[in-house]
Amino acid sequence: MTAATHSSLFPQVPASADAVLDGLDPEQREVATALSGPVCVLAGAGTGKTRAITHRIAYGVRSGVLQPASVLAVTFTNRAAGEMRGRLRQLGAGGVQARTFHSAALRQLQYFWPKAVGGELPRLVERKIQVVAEAAARCRIRLDRNELRDVTAEIEWAKVTQTVPEDYPAAAAKAGREVPRDPAETARVYGMYEQLKRDRGVIDFEDVLLLTVGVLQDRHDIAETVRRQYQHFVVDEYQDVSPLQQRLLELWLGDRDSLCVVGDASQTIYSFTGATPDHLLNFRTRHPRATVIRLVRDYRSTPQVVHLANGLLTQARGRAAEHRLELISQRPPGPEPRYAEFADEPAEAEGTARRIRELLDSGVPASEIAVLYRINAQSEVYEQALADAGVPYQLRGAERFFERPEVREAGLLLRGAARAGSHTDPQLADADDLPSQVRAVLGTRGWTPEPPAGSGAVRDRWESLAALVRLAEDFARARPQAGLADLVAELDERASAQHAPTVEGVTLASLHAAKGLEWDAVFLVGLTEGMLPITYAKTDEQIEEERRLLYVGVTRARLHLTLSWALSRTPGGRPSRRPSRFLNGLRPGSAAPRPGSAAAAAAQGGIERGDRRRRRGPARCRVCGRTLTDAGEIKLMRCEDCPSELDEALYERLRDWRAEQARQLGQPAFCIFTDKTLLAIAEAVPGTEAELVCISGVGGRKLDRFGAEVLALCAGAEPTSQNSPEK
Ligand code: ATP
Ligand code: MG
Repeated sequence: MTAATHSSLFPQVPASADAVLDGLDPEQREVATALSGPVCVLAGAGTGKTRAITHRIAYGVRSGVLQPASVLAVTFTNRAAGEMRGRLRQLGAGGVQARTFHSAALRQLQYFWPKAVGGELPRLVERKIQVVAEAAARCRIRLDRNELRDVTAEIEWAKVTQTVPEDYPAAAAKAGREVPRDPAETARVYGMYEQLKRDRGVIDFEDVLLLTVGVLQDRHDIAETVRRQYQHFVVDEYQDVSPLQQRLLELWLGDRDSLCVVGDASQTIYSFTGATPDHLLNFRTRHPRATVIRLVRDYRSTPQVVHLANGLLTQARGRAAEHRLELISQRPPGPEPRYAEFADEPAEAEGTARRIRELLDSGVPASEIAVLYRINAQSEVYEQALADAGVPYQLRGAERFFERPEVREAGLLLRGAARAGSHTDPQLADADDLPSQVRAVLGTRGWTPEPPAGSGAVRDRWESLAALVRLAEDFARARPQAGLADLVAELDERASAQHAPTVEGVTLASLHAAKGLEWDAVFLVGLTEGMLPITYAKTDEQIEEERRLLYVGVTRARLHLTLSWALSRTPGGRPSRRPSRFLNGLRPGSAAPRPGSAAAAAAQGGIERGDRRRRRGPARCRVCGRTLTDAGEIKLMRCEDCPSELDEALYERLRDWRAEQARQLGQPAFCIFTDKTLLAIAEAVPGTEAELVCISGVGGRKLDRFGAEVLALCAGAEPTSQNSPEK
């Protein structure tokens, strides 16, 4: 999805240090060759900041000025760090450490803990929010789900700004924070939370940085050892450094000055966590000898995308905006950004999926397409729509499959069962084929043939186990002779290659998680007042951060950019929403800066009426008649907890049939039909095409393709399978 992935198809290591500089413009070269003293690169999105620092490290290593092991490159996410390591290898500079602040700190802490404190480093707490909930309960403070999330965020903020519980109320007031609860209550919960962690001997994410800072501050001998190891520091996305990360960086650096930072104040999007662009913008004050370099050429996006990005920045206000840098596109012209208005959210998701299909059909690879939204909860309706359209997708920001605790645990159990063999393991006594053996083993850990009701952690866990069961089924079909031990070997191999049992697809990600990335085609969805800016952004500063978030989104696109919104949340709902104010004066027909009416804009042309769907009344539960708002429930046509009249045998046959289709077409099963759609079919048992197509998730395309077979299954036929030709 990024340039790195593009060029890594045929990596060619540059022949010399000087060859590393080929392909850099004069200013980027200046960055790459400024190998001593403090360096600060201030530049807009897509101008090659990340590329320039990667080449700088490679040039330093290849020219012998920098020892690979003495360089620590700090990036914002593990993924970015992984990508940087890959790029460095391609440039002939493997062996350089590229990490996040967190992972670099964790590594040092693990190494020095026995010496600094004794014993092993305490375990990292897995579900922080649960501990916060417990702490609140002990303080006799009732928090609903949203408050719990907000109070947790406050605790995180307090920790990265190194604020102790007693000081939180004053610090929050001073920082002008919009506090979710009485600050004195939050301070009590925070204090109790810290107490609970101490009692249980666990630490949290923020503690990793706090403890590392503590050790480096108190133990000069350890600080010296770390400083002997790392002599040169490079930090990407420096506009989002938190005070705690900055402190850690200073401790790493000591009294030396080999520090290169790059950033773009207009992309500051983590202020809410305590991050601030001040360190970037004041770099010269702190390091008077610093070389400051500006890059203005945008290599990523077309003039059309860049024009919109510049337009957004023109409207920006505040400190970061004073430092905005007008971008100049270096690419040939491309299509104008599209603006699409829809009646409701499912229609917006379907419209997006349809457009993605068109792009795929025109040859844009799925991995070059992204759908970006403001909050993760928006993903569900897009997951459904893409699955219904047969488009593979992946969620960014979700934990890697093989790293999830339940998957690791399942792996251990399967290994144990493989070792014990079916003769000695009573669980396996009745299971005569590999999939049944796997089902039997995972059944002891929460796998059931039916998904549990509702969503949340239990459902997530079930989904992971179900994915393993499906993987075992696919594996057994491909290798009928294989046993449990072969499957375990296969899982190991996939885990080390990090192939989750899904295919590379369209990326679904939050705007925050999209930072630093790029795609050929980007869909910015849900752009309504209330979502962007999000309702809880109230102060001018918070609103500006929301605008920057949109700027980050827009500048992720190389070529195709679509911005869309829906006038109501649910089908048939009141069209009370308005498109984001940030688009005023930018989208065709809208007035700047006063909010314009979306309908008027559409009437003036320029905006696509993306909604070609027949207007239906509100979706209602077919059991109790309640109006449905949840996308999954709309699909089922009933409330999650209303009784289901499921034909279980039919559901099983449909799943078997789907697995076989998936195998034959080489697609993941959810691309044929999602579990929800199969459930809805097994509940409705349609007898005709007309009845079948009424089920959400069965569009015209799917009806043509699979309709006859699905109706045959509903009429009682058995699924055909190559492994069972007798059927
Ligand atoms: P962001 O602010 O979003 O992090 P960035 O400034 O780090 O962006 P990069 O990701 O380094 O920008 O580069 C953007 C794109 O432009 C990449 O695909 C990169 O390979 C390409 N690019 C950068 N510099 C050049 C150049 N001199 N010639 C050709 N392509 C370039
Ligand atoms: Mg970058």
